[in-house]
Amino acid sequence: MLLVGDAAGYIDALTGEGVFLALAGAEALVRNVRRGTPGRYETDWNRATRRHRFLTQLLVRARQQPALGSRITPAAARLPHLFAAAVNVLE
Ligand SMILES: Cc1cc2nc3c(=O)[nH]c(=O)nc-3n(C[C@H](O)[C@H](O)[C@H](O)COP(=O)(O)OP(=O)(O)OC[C@H]3O[C@@H](n4cnc5c(N)ncnc54)[C@H](O)[C@@H]3O)c2cc1C
Repeated sequence: MLLVGDAAGYIDALTGEGVFLALAGAEALVRNVRRGTPGRYETDWNRATRRHRFLTQLLVRARQQPALGSRITPAAARLPHLFAAAVNVLE
């Protein structure tokens, strides 16, 4: 059984990630099924989603730190260009 999109699981979707990840996963799934290598799907999914998972995990971990968590939203409000750049990296 190969799961794709939201069903394949994710850390915590941020703006614009869900559809991209679903399509990237679907492409990897179809490619591997056609090639007869379904066992490689998970490796390809990991590769296709690595950057998103890394950045989102970083944000989630920062949010969980008492000293950092409460500063993220005010920092994003003070530095909208930086926040927009971070979100754009994930789209
Ligand atoms: C409020 C909200 C806003 C969002 N905004 C964005 C955004 O701006 N940009 C972005 O990229 N992503 C956004 N997302 C995330 C995005 O919608 C999902 O990541 C994306 O739709 C995942 O696609 P999917 O095909 O995996 O799942 P889905 O689109 O959820 O499709 C799953 C389908 O399976 C069907 N289904 C479920 N169970 C069964 C069953 N047992 N039998 C048959 N069919 C079944 C469902 O009815 C559904 O049609 C948002 C999500 C939400 C909830």
